Amino acid sequence: MLRRTKIVATLGPASSDPKVLERMIQAGVDVIRINFAHGTKEEHLEIIELTRSLARSSGHAIGVLADLQGPKIRIGRFENGSVSLETGDPFILDADCDLGNQERVGLDYKELPNDVESGVTLMLDDGRIVLNVSRVKGNQIYCTVEQGGILSNNKGINRKGGGLSAPALTSKDMEDIKTAAEFKADYLAVSFPRSGQDMAIARDLMNQAGGKSLLMAKIERKEAIVALDDILRASDAIMVARGDLSVEVGDAAVPALQKRMIRAARTNNKIVITATQMMESMNASQVPTRAEVSDVANAVLDGTDAVMLSSESATGQYPVETVEAMARVCLEAEKEYHGNLELRRIQGGMPDTIEEAIARATMFTAGSLKIAAIAALTQSGFTAMLMSRKSSNVPIFALSPQLDTRRKVTLFRGVYPVNFSGKFQDPEIILNRAEDELLKRGVVKTGDLILMTIGEPVGKAGGTNTMKIVKVGDHVNTQIKN
Ligand code: PEP
Repeated sequence: MLRRTKIVATLGPASSDPKVLERMIQAGVDVIRINFAHGTKEEHLEIIELTRSLARSSGHAIGVLADLQGPKIRIGRFENGSVSLETGDPFILDADCDLGNQERVGLDYKELPNDVESGVTLMLDDGRIVLNVSRVKGNQIYCTVEQGGILSNNKGINRKGGGLSAPALTSKDMEDIKTAAEFKADYLAVSFPRSGQDMAIARDLMNQAGGKSLLMAKIERKEAIVALDDILRASDAIMVARGDLSVEVGDAAVPALQKRMIRAARTNNKIVITATQMMESMNASQVPTRAEVSDVANAVLDGTDAVMLSSESATGQYPVETVEAMARVCLEAEKEYHGNLELRRIQGGMPDTIEEAIARATMFTAGSLKIAAIAALTQSGFTAMLMSRKSSNVPIFALSPQLDTRRKVTLFRGVYPVNFSGKFQDPEIILNRAEDELLKRGVVKTGDLILMTIGEPVGKAGGTNTMKIVKVGDHVNTQIKN
């Protein structure tokens, strides 16, 4: 049984050993995430090259997601590394402070005093420490500790309810976009976008750098929820970034927002990842909690394309076991997914392009007949993406001569990349060869029905205009002329 939901693993010290990474790939990693918030360009390049070489030798395409750090607002450093704050203590966030102490700490974003006023609640260290702003004077924000605890160097700050003005792309992000283009990252994730405009700026920078990464908006600000449609229009994919989002909107709001975002992404023909704390306890445990198993399974049932590991695979003690557990949970949850029945009543507005009409017709047919597989012959992967927006249990094989396309489809739910090259011009010969390829891989057998899509004339991206129903083994062996 092929797993349909894809697994994204953030790489870090726990997963940079070639043997560990190889075992993680064998256990089911489809896409690696490089977090630009940590590490150097050289370290990122090394791990990407290692991943791609392991992918080559295992015969599996692996996608690369480069994740920009974004304008995460942080406190500065303390004289002694940390302080202990008691509930009710006064505390000052001071843009002019160099080294912090029990009374005050500095800020990396000097504009913060202009973004807050008396009555605002600030959440530090992912909401572990809560400060109420009592007044702002010049570059100092005077607060009262509402929830105390240990506060250490460089912890993040969020404003409850959103509304911080820091631009989505910092100068570091702009440099990192060039690096992502150089690495040929398949996806570029933009942190803290507030609007489609933020995504458009990132896309312009990616184009200027000569990169072709698909753009992913991390939905982690309250404003991004309000602007979701605008952001979706300007993006290829979104990430339900539950860590920062929880702090801004309150943890209880996140599960319903996750469902809303996954639904919105799929109906708008976009890809969606569900991220953060999915297997958190496996940082230090060989088994997940019942709640984590349910969380991953529910994301699968919500229809997410992929589930993501963060610290579990980057710094945790059991990166391989965590991927294994995640893969097991996804597979089991997928059994509960009766997509094929839904395909007969395909929802959504009318298709408005030829590709979408073909993709819908293919998925409707997949829900009506007993279809073993879909073979989408694709240059860009676009038709396979459109097909995968309709829930189904039928595997979609994206047959493409383009390596970058095969790497991109690693994130699409239920889509599997197949290296299928050739310069043949006759569609009949190509379709026969595609059928032979699926037979050779053992994913179909003689007598099975498969659906094939292709664009004629052959070789042009974005031109899928044909769907064919084929009985495996029926084709007459055609002499291939080069
Ligand atoms: C998140 O906040 O959930 C997230 C994925 O972002 P990061 O890991 O970059 O903080």
